[in-house]
Amino acid sequence: MATLQYRPSLLTPRKGKVMWLIIHHTRCMYPQESIAIDNTKYQMPTLSNAVLEDKSGDINYNFVVEQVKNDVQVFSVKPFVYACHFDDIPTEIENHAIHIALLGSYDFKVPTKRMYETLAYRCLNPLVRVFHIPVGHIKLHSEVSIDKDNQSCPGVFIDKAIIISQVNRYVIKASY
Ligand SMILES: [Zn+2]
Repeated sequence: MATLQYRPSLLTPRKGKVMWLIIHHTRCMYPQESIAIDNTKYQMPTLSNAVLEDKSGDINYNFVVEQVKNDVQVFSVKPFVYACHFDDIPTEIENHAIHIALLGSYDFKVPTKRMYETLAYRCLNPLVRVFHIPVGHIKLHSEVSIDKDNQSCPGVFIDKAIIISQVNRYVIKASY
């Protein structure tokens, strides 16, 4: 298993408060075939290997969501006090964003209901509640990208309407 060498001096603390949640698939940063599909194996070590190949020193997302055996798990891979960097995301969003990646490519695979539920209930909703983020500030990478050639992340099979409906379901229930 690969072990990332954490070098705190390379981690950039975010400058402003968290106002945006940006959803990716890992394909947008890591094109390696070994993590092209989210299977039932624990693939975080494979993702770490991909990062080591890049020599970037750190996974460029705050959270990664992946299928492990018969359930979906959320991993905190970069503490959210640290910023991620994307050349194609405007600075005014980037400085205030938490980045969440679904492992694999959703150009190749249709997300399961459990994937949507876990993303909403165990990742997006807690962040929405803690940071008071408007649901309208949950965006797909493709929605905030200024690069006309990068319009697919997090994949053509991701249905934003399902994500938002799952988020809203929880918000309504939690207000009782
Ligand atoms: Zn992306």
